[in-house]
Amino acid sequence: MAEGAPSKSFTVGIDLGTTNSLVAFCDAGGPRILPDASGRALVPSVVRFEQNSVVVGGAARDGASEDPERTISSVKRLMGRSLKDAQADLRYLPYSVVAGEGETARVSIPTAGGGASIVSPQEVSAQILRSLKEQASAALGGPVSRAVITVPAYFDDAQRQATKDAGRLAGLDVIRIVNEPTAAALAYGLGAGLSAEHVGERTIAVFDLGGGTFDISILRITPADSGNETSFFEVLATSGDTHLGGDDADHALMRLLLGGDPESLSAADRRILKQEAEAVKIRLSEYEMVQAAFALSSRRIDARVGRAEYETMIAPLVQRAIENCRRALADAARTLKQAAAPSIDRVIMVGGMTRTPLVRKAVGEFFGLEPYIAVDPDQVVALGAAVQASILSGETKGALLLDVIPLSLGIETVGGAVAKLIVRNSTVPAKASEFFSTSVDNQTSIRLSVYQGEREMAADCRRLGEFHLRGIPPMPAGIPQLEVQFLVDSSGVLNVSAHERRSGKRATLQVVPNHGLTREEVDKMERDSYTHAREDMKRHRIVDLIANSKLDLKWIGERFERFKDILEAENRVVLQRAMETLREFVCKAEADWNSVDADEFHHAKEQLDRASMRLQEVGIAMSLKASQPKI
Ligand code: AMP
Repeated sequence: MAEGAPSKSFTVGIDLGTTNSLVAFCDAGGPRILPDASGRALVPSVVRFEQNSVVVGGAARDGASEDPERTISSVKRLMGRSLKDAQADLRYLPYSVVAGEGETARVSIPTAGGGASIVSPQEVSAQILRSLKEQASAALGGPVSRAVITVPAYFDDAQRQATKDAGRLAGLDVIRIVNEPTAAALAYGLGAGLSAEHVGERTIAVFDLGGGTFDISILRITPADSGNETSFFEVLATSGDTHLGGDDADHALMRLLLGGDPESLSAADRRILKQEAEAVKIRLSEYEMVQAAFALSSRRIDARVGRAEYETMIAPLVQRAIENCRRALADAARTLKQAAAPSIDRVIMVGGMTRTPLVRKAVGEFFGLEPYIAVDPDQVVALGAAVQASILSGETKGALLLDVIPLSLGIETVGGAVAKLIVRNSTVPAKASEFFSTSVDNQTSIRLSVYQGEREMAADCRRLGEFHLRGIPPMPAGIPQLEVQFLVDSSGVLNVSAHERRSGKRATLQVVPNHGLTREEVDKMERDSYTHAREDMKRHRIVDLIANSKLDLKWIGERFERFKDILEAENRVVLQRAMETLREFVCKAEADWNSVDADEFHHAKEQLDRASMRLQEVGIAMSLKASQPKI
């Protein structure tokens, strides 16, 4: 796309961050940040809702102390989440968050008349996106209509959907949601055919320490030049902490500068203290000793802070980040089904806090590599998003992004087990389908509940939504052929469809996800799945045995009543006994699944299958006889 061609619209890359956002564009000259009219690249992710207008960015943030309740920051923490999910974050947010439709987290903004207007996080994010869109359009000299937006790798379906919706509200066609670490790798030209060095498959770590969150991702890149036409980016593992970042260092410095607890200060003084503490922190990345001198409403602060003292204070925070790196490496080994963690070829630093010398030193020591810092850590994600935008709009060739699904996806089957259609860590886009049937005669409607999680039983997983396939003609149990298809698109968004093949009825799930999972929950679900694996497997097996045995008993029972008089006496007795035994297993298992032995139960079911052979032969012979033409 030629620059300055106003008839065409531009496709940009956007890093929609918790603290700051950026917009970038890539053409033949490579990716570059699009600054605002005064040359500023970073747009603080802050929106202030005034009486008759909305202010976005630096102006909103700088005036925050005058109007904290109408100044919305860190809204990314609320995207696609329920009020319950966002609970842990609420104490960090100075504005009011309430439950909206479907328990979703909404922002409540006081109005002049003493009331409140309720705004969704998507609408707040849309304000930021709209402002970035205008900024880009002014910088490029033409309309911007399409964007690639980045999200953390662990963002679930609901959070990705919410990000897409925010884009739509801002008048942007979001052509792809890309994981932030993948974008960072693209910014370095790794694997996209842009790299100066072409050296086959590489494993890289993206260490992202921002203002409020820490993310570590391990990616594998197979570049285009090693036998493939396109490059593959796979996220092998992610880990991190949703409350670890520059803010923690600021809080520690606030306490140090004040010599006490900042909670005792007024909201306005707290903001001043925070700004000053952040400034000290940033200067400490460059200087060994920093002087702070400023006034709060009640007192003056004059202090000197040395780097050594600061580093001692933040050492536990850095250590927490390194522990997460260790976990991510172990997870990557698991994904690759290797005993040892993969060796890391590159470490990319993302996020303003990675300018801290102690952070760089600790990361370098842990990975045994000098971290990559050539690209500005604040800009690396947006630049990568722009690279991806240009690939998708045909400007740059040769990279295909493959990201992974963080938790398995499946549907609930009779008895409460979950049949997993797409397993955790599958690469996107992913598609899977499976056949199901009914368990009750003449069922004309089937309820399908979609779950996310690693455990075997639905009750231990997270429900994403449910839908009904109605209008199925009455048929005996087990006869309808229901094909359920899961499709996770390249942005990680889930679409579910069901098709009853005999009647041709179709239904799709409108995944209107109303909340997401926190990373802590994802981690817990994963840990639980290991702890309960054996027990869960047994329960799943028993539940399936109950459902299948009931179907067998029903079919065989019906045929037995019809043809028992034709059966040989000996066969009749064996069959009756087998039915009786299996019925006892079913009764016992239904009362308490743990009271039966799964192998014995399975054996009883097989015994009945074997004993019913003769009955089936008789049944077939009788129906053939009945269908013979009569003379
Ligand atoms: P991000 O969320 O990536 O924009 O990162 C913002 C965080 O990086 C904030 O906590 C900033 O205070 C911090 N930061 C920015 N520049 C520096 C620096 N030179 N040294 C240390 N921290 C910094």
